[in-house]
Amino acid sequence: MPTEIKSKRQIIEAVKTVPGLKELLSKEEGHFHYEIDLEVMVYGRNYGGKVVGPYLKLLEFEAGEAIIKEGDWGGNTFYYVVNPKVDVFVNLPDKGTTNVGTIGPGLQFGEMSILAGVPRSATICAPKSGKARILEVQRPALRLLRKIPEVNQALDGAYRKHGKKAIFAELRKVTNLTPEWLDILSSCARFRVFSRNHVLFAEQTLMNRIYIIRTGWIRRNSMAGYEDILGKGFVFGLEGLQTDYSWPYTLTLMERAELLEISITKVRKDPVLVEVVQQQFTNFMAPPLNPVPQEELHSQKDLTETGLANATNLLVMDMDLCVRCGNCSLACHKMHGHSRLLREGIHMSRLKNGGSQQSVLSPAVCMHCKDPECMTGCPTGAIGRFEGGQVDITPRTCIGCGDCATQCPYNAISLIPRRKKEEPKTNGWKTKVKDLLRLQPDPMPAAVDATEDLVAVKCNLCAGTSLNPPDSKTPAFSCEENCPTGALARINPKEYFNEIGKLDGL
Ligand code: SF4
Ligand code: SF4
Repeated sequence: MPTEIKSKRQIIEAVKTVPGLKELLSKEEGHFHYEIDLEVMVYGRNYGGKVVGPYLKLLEFEAGEAIIKEGDWGGNTFYYVVNPKVDVFVNLPDKGTTNVGTIGPGLQFGEMSILAGVPRSATICAPKSGKARILEVQRPALRLLRKIPEVNQALDGAYRKHGKKAIFAELRKVTNLTPEWLDILSSCARFRVFSRNHVLFAEQTLMNRIYIIRTGWIRRNSMAGYEDILGKGFVFGLEGLQTDYSWPYTLTLMERAELLEISITKVRKDPVLVEVVQQQFTNFMAPPLNPVPQEELHSQKDLTETGLANATNLLVMDMDLCVRCGNCSLACHKMHGHSRLLREGIHMSRLKNGGSQQSVLSPAVCMHCKDPECMTGCPTGAIGRFEGGQVDITPRTCIGCGDCATQCPYNAISLIPRRKKEEPKTNGWKTKVKDLLRLQPDPMPAAVDATEDLVAVKCNLCAGTSLNPPDSKTPAFSCEENCPTGALARINPKEYFNEIGKLDGL
């Protein structure tokens, strides 16, 4: 366990050693330029009893001690090296755990878990030769730090570098391209991020780029009236490599998408590279745009446009099996002290083999999105992605501001009064007799007052409950376990809905 150095003076001294971050201490006419941000980050701020921050911790790790571990979900923190340096290890298939370099003072690491929502890609340790001092930064600090141009640029640069590296790592796996050819190709390519509804290319315009889609759903449509939806991993534009060619359809991004853009003009400068790219990418070319059966297209649109296809763990209810008994909500209430499961939500049809359709409800309960919107504005970092990949809320640090509930598009977060210590009940025989003889129903609980001490609650996949003790191998969910007809299931949408599972390429 690292030692936390709580001295604010030492934290400020550490901030001064990090380029970019030290801008927090810059002054204008005798005042700190980022005065409130600095206060929140280093000291924390009390807004009428609700504490926000501090977001910075100064930690000292023992020689050789791991700071983050490869494969862990660590979506709530990233780090700056204060001194002297840290060692980077990755697990290589043929060599096992291998030291691949060091990160020196003033540099950041671990930020991709927050920026891209991915598990840690390396193990980072204090050097064997001695202790290391590290600044740990909580997720909500990102919003404040992005106001500093140098930090913002460094974060964006890291994100783009990581995105490009991840695509090339994938290409190394699925093609026979040598490291030399990958380097040459990399010099002709750039990593791009586009927002929803961006038209990547239009029908009948010149094909002058090759695109490889890394994330995001895309829609193709043509003047001939054809339309389809595709997922990640397809290559577009190979036809234009050797001769000038026009796009045979229009391609629109259905959500924010990351992709690799390769300049055909640059590739054409080397005729051997043209041959190599043509040969290696042909297997991953997007299929021609052909008519798709209407039910299939409708179902694909429903799943992608509602975002259900992007769930990492989706609760579905087979409406042909559900007998409306409410056991699932009750089981949730019993497990957590309040129900997080509303039996209303998004209705869909699931296409089954043989052409029949199954009526499915995705209830308004957290689906642990790949890219969760609920996490974007939490001022305390109480909501985050935890060890098993589930999105959860730490009640201790939640101040009940409701930002996460507002951001979640699926109405999956509720605010409830924080449970106070129960008043001791008078359970004497007189009370029991009085209760028995009382003719009126139990009094209604008092209405929730917005000024009460609230806390946000949501489905956490029953993590940390008696259903999932620390050594359990298979996760269990109270709602699913207590459904008498087997109507409920927690699923991976790409496996459960065939019509979606088949849309990915690479
Ligand atoms: S709370 Fe809402 S936005 Fe957040 S992961 Fe769950 S479903 Fe997605
Ligand atoms: S209500 Fe949501 S956004 Fe606000 S502090 Fe709690 S978890 Fe964070």
